[in-house]
Parts: sequence; C-alpha cells; structure tokens
Amino acid sequence: MTIKQYVQERKEQIKNLVAKMEVKPSIAIVQVNEDVGSHAYVRGKLKDAEELGIKADLIKLDINTTQDELLEVIHRLNQDETYDGFIVQMPLPKGIDENIIKLAISPKKDVDGFHPLSSLIACTPKGILNYLKSEQIPLLGKNAVVIGRSNIVGKPMAKLLLKESMNVTVLHSKTTFEDMAFYVAHADVIVIAIGKTSFLDHRFNYKKDAVIVDVGINRTEEGLKGDALRDLPVKLQTPVPGGVGLLTRLALYENLLEIKGINE
Ligand code: NAP
Repeated sequence: MTIKQYVQERKEQIKNLVAKMEVKPSIAIVQVNEDVGSHAYVRGKLKDAEELGIKADLIKLDINTTQDELLEVIHRLNQDETYDGFIVQMPLPKGIDENIIKLAISPKKDVDGFHPLSSLIACTPKGILNYLKSEQIPLLGKNAVVIGRSNIVGKPMAKLLLKESMNVTVLHSKTTFEDMAFYVAHADVIVIAIGKTSFLDHRFNYKKDAVIVDVGINRTEEGLKGDALRDLPVKLQTPVPGGVGLLTRLALYENLLEIKGINE
C-alpha cells in the first residue's frame, strides 16, 4: 500500500472514531514564525483536523513575541480545558530557546511528544514505525541504520526500533564515508533524517530487500527533495513529497486521541 493510501485508510478510521465521541478532541496550534515551510505545515494540520472532525484553532503570535510572552501563552494553554493538547510550531524566532519552550509544555498536553516526560512518542518516528508495521516489514533481529541523531527524529527513532528488537546503528556527521558505506550495505531498514538533498545515492550499495525511509525535506529549485535519490535499487523507498510528512501529520492526531485515552 502506498503511504497516501495507508494515511487515507487510517484517517477514515480516526474520523469514524471521532464521529462517535460526544466531546470532540481539540487542539491549539501556536505559530510564532513567518517561515514558508511552517505555513504549509500548519495549513496541512488544520486541513487534517477539519477532515477528521477535530476542533483545531490556530493561535498566531506576532513575529516579535518574546520568550516570556510565549511562555505566558503556554502556561495559559497548559491550564485551558478548551484544548486537550497543543503544539508550538518550530522553528522559533531568534532569541527564543526551543528547549525551554518544549519543556514548558505540560507533558499531558504535549501532542508532539517532545517533552522528556511525555508518555507519547514523537510524531515522525511514531508515524514511521506504524507504517513499517502496516507494511509487515520484518524488524525483529534485523539491522536498522538511522542516519541523523536529532532529538525529534534520529534519537527517538533509534530508541523505537531498538524496542522492536532491531540491531540499531546511529550514524551522524562525524561518521566517515567508509563506515557509512559499510553500515548502509548491511542495513535492512535505513531511516535517513539529515537535511542533505540526495545524500543516499549510487555511491552506496544496498541490500535488494532493504527499506529506505526518507525523512529529509529539502527545498530546492526543482521543488521538495528528500535525503535519498529517488528510485534506489531497494524493495521499498518512501517518496518525498508524499511520504514521511504525511505519516507525521497522521501521528499528531493519533497522539491527540491517545491524550483522550483512545489508543486504536
Ligand atoms: P537536525 O536537527 O538538523 O539534525 C541533523 C542530523 O543530521 C544531525 O544529527 C547531524 O549530525 C546529521 N547530519 C548532518 N549532515 C550529515 C552528514 N553529511 N552525514 C551524516 N549525518 C549528518 O535534523 P532534523 O530536525 O532531524 O531534520 C532532518 C531532516 O528531516 C530535515 O530535512 C527536516 O526538514 C526533515 N524532517 C522531516 C520531517 C517530516 O515529517 N517529514 C519531520 C522532521 C524533520 P550531528 O549530530 O553530528 O551534527
């Protein structure tokens, strides 16, 4: 099943669940930036919410909002029972510390799953794992290579795959090309999240049954590109656009339902 088909199917299930709920789930999206990418992400999240019957409000703050002002909004939302959860769209303007903001969001309302005490899984790794499982990709005892070690993708992804009993190797900018080529050649599942256009290409050898999950979103003159060149000789490669971005959007609403105690 393509990612688009999978996401559409899951959305139908969520829509049916929400339709049966007396009190609909609700989310606030706080946006402080004027970033082109963020505008598109926020639009996508609002559109998904509408489609799913979920109440979503955009709280758009002035680009000159200070860290203290943003913290005040967060403290208010932490207490506000109108919303089951909320997110603060990244990136934030200069002068606002992302880590302070992520830690200020109550773990009970942290739909993004970024807070270290959150019981929720960060949306991108969660969306990816659910998709791999739906495609029945063998995980147990298999070799996973995660390229990139960010707190929102690489690290939580590695932890999740380890929990699935994969043999996980995490690579990063200090990994030599030779080592990278070695690990990639032995990988059954490769998750790449580094923000470098077409980094995985024909310089590398792949197992023919390998799966490449391309998280990268790179804005180029020819449009959006992933971190992997298209059509590499593997069994399954997620496209960009129309791939992991859709899984991440889906996982946001799965997390919101989890906050409401629904885990289906
Ligand atoms: P990030 O915080 O910018 O971190 C990038 C990671 O890549 C770092 O760990 C860095 O290593 C590593 N790296 C950089 N250059 C490398 C190289 N040449 N070889 C190996 N590793 C290298 O990244 P992020 O926030 O995880 O985002 C990564 C990409 O995924 C971006 O394109 C972003 O737009 C995209 N993204 C997509 C979604 C989605 O829903 N599709 C969600 C989140 C992010 P060091 O730690 O050594 O510096």
